[in-house]
Amino acid sequence: MLIYEWDFDKNEVVQWERRGECNQCGDCCRVCVKYNKPSEDINVQEATANGNYHGICNQVQVDGKDNYFWDVRIDNNDKDFQPCEDLKGNSCFSHNGTREVLCRYFPMSPRNAELFEQCSYRFEKIESWEID
Ligand code: SF4
Ligand code: SF4
Repeated sequence: MLIYEWDFDKNEVVQWERRGECNQCGDCCRVCVKYNKPSEDINVQEATANGNYHGICNQVQVDGKDNYFWDVRIDNNDKDFQPCEDLKGNSCFSHNGTREVLCRYFPMSPRNAELFEQCSYRFEKIESWEID
């Protein structure tokens, strides 16, 4: 799994290596974590080319396929939010293939992990470069 964080406000992309294991604290499953999905024809390469994008995009590359998560955040104001039904105690019981794609890869950067005090993942910066 290759992970990159595109910061269009800082004009910088960082490749991270994720270290450690999930300690199954369950904290990221109990709150409403949201992100924006790119429309099918928008990705970071296009964003780089036209320079019209702002915010932060986490890119996860698995088996040559890219997944993009724009502006990952906690939303404490979503009145429709329901705790995940697959969380039993502190364990995830999602074994039927319906698991949210974000759950497979979260956290994808120190910025994501820092949202949760107990998160046991750590990140090492591999390299970074300017977007332009
Ligand atoms: S599917 Fe599993 S990992 Fe995802 S929010 Fe629910 S309990 Fe957590
Ligand atoms: S906050 Fe981190 S350690 Fe806790 S369940 Fe989520 S990914 Fe695992």
